[in-house]
Amino acid sequence: MKYISTRGTAPVLGFGEAMMTGLARDGGLYVPQTVPQMSHADIAALAGLSYEDIAFRVMYPFLGDTFAEDEFRGLIAAAYEPFGHAARAPLVQLAPNHFLLELFHGPTLAFKDFAMQLIGQMMQAALAKTGARITIVGATSGDTGSAAMEAFRGLANVDLFFLYPHGRVSEVQRRQMTTPVEANVHALALDGDFDDAQARVKDMFNDFAFRDGVRLAGVNSINWARVLAQVVYYFSSAVSLGAPHRAVGFTVPTGNFGDIFAGYIARQMGLPIDRLVIATNQNDILHRALTSGDYKTDGVKPSISPSMDIQVSSNFERALFDAYGRDSRAVTQLMDEMKSGGFHISQGALQELRATFASGRCSEAETTATIIREYGRTGEILCPHTAVGVKVAGDHLGAVPMITLATAHPAKFPAAVRDAIGLHPDLPPRMADLYDRPERLTRVPNDLAQIQTLIRERIAS
Ligand SMILES: *Cc1c(COP(=O)(O)O)cnc(C)c1O
Repeated sequence: MKYISTRGTAPVLGFGEAMMTGLARDGGLYVPQTVPQMSHADIAALAGLSYEDIAFRVMYPFLGDTFAEDEFRGLIAAAYEPFGHAARAPLVQLAPNHFLLELFHGPTLAFKDFAMQLIGQMMQAALAKTGARITIVGATSGDTGSAAMEAFRGLANVDLFFLYPHGRVSEVQRRQMTTPVEANVHALALDGDFDDAQARVKDMFNDFAFRDGVRLAGVNSINWARVLAQVVYYFSSAVSLGAPHRAVGFTVPTGNFGDIFAGYIARQMGLPIDRLVIATNQNDILHRALTSGDYKTDGVKPSISPSMDIQVSSNFERALFDAYGRDSRAVTQLMDEMKSGGFHISQGALQELRATFASGRCSEAETTATIIREYGRTGEILCPHTAVGVKVAGDHLGAVPMITLATAHPAKFPAAVRDAIGLHPDLPPRMADLYDRPERLTRVPNDLAQIQTLIRERIAS
């Protein structure tokens, strides 16, 4: 099993190396050279299995010889053991042909736990074999950082640093990052916004002396191993609703296009997915691109669904790579044009994308209205990101069952919920003491050299 870069000039890697590398050295994203297939019979055989067993069968063919079968089963078990629901990713019904896939029963209450918990286990297992240590650095607007701190805390061969914009994440998100007590995880509150945090992380990866010196690794949403872990719940939910004997559709609240790209991979593997609907908030670059063919940045407009407030969608490059017939030169050219604000998607590529993806946009007022309406109609309290998905899914309902991904627990975004329905959603009992735990964080200036010095000092001590 080999992984190639969308830009065509980085080394071809195995699964383990692609996981440790994250962003390819040519600036591209790793994708499998060929996507393993699951036959009708293979998919039918998933019916009734546990989430962990489905995870094993779906992911193992992508791993090459990275882990032995039993070892990988053990890593999956450890990854999902801390979840607060026996089904891991349960479905609930909203309307006759509309289902919600609850992806918020992990330790930090957002879908990112599915990938982060597993990548933590896989990285630690791979490193333990050689005794090597790595330093993970990332930027977060909230959910990625909390999921990463939780997944990597206490792991022996990893130091983890996450930069978040000081004062601009929700209190629950901040506390989830600042309350782990293990010394190998570090929350860094940057004086700047999320774009500054992301830019400093990029600078560190582009500083090859630093990158190699501290053995830098990334776990942001472009990491192939994260995409892979997310493929599993597309299978588990579709099979619950009758796949492979009948098709299903999915609507995915989308920011960086990682979660929905996992659905695209599931479809490539043979899962009968009718359509994948991209749901954006007012940061609608993807909806505009699918509609007009123009992929153009338009600044970030802060919204009540902040985990989807993006300027560009990093994983979209993977979909473009396929839509352009895996032409890495064409992709490299598009990404060059991106530096001056955007590009136009060719007619052929647009047709390819529209064969798989539909899209819709949800305004701030519609997000709030959807939380109010669904609470009244079903008693379900939606997080604002999930509400974006439910609104857009409502415009795409038809004969095929629609599954909307519920990406976070409402208690993670209590302000938006309170403003809509006047209720403060409670944290699950297992984390009810979050507000009482002591916090630990380091304020850092928006200055590359000072951040690098701090990281070097911390990992040396
Ligand atoms: C990260 C996140 C998203 C967006 O997911 P992408 O993979 O970036 O498209 C949506 N909702 C929530 C709650 C998130 O944390």
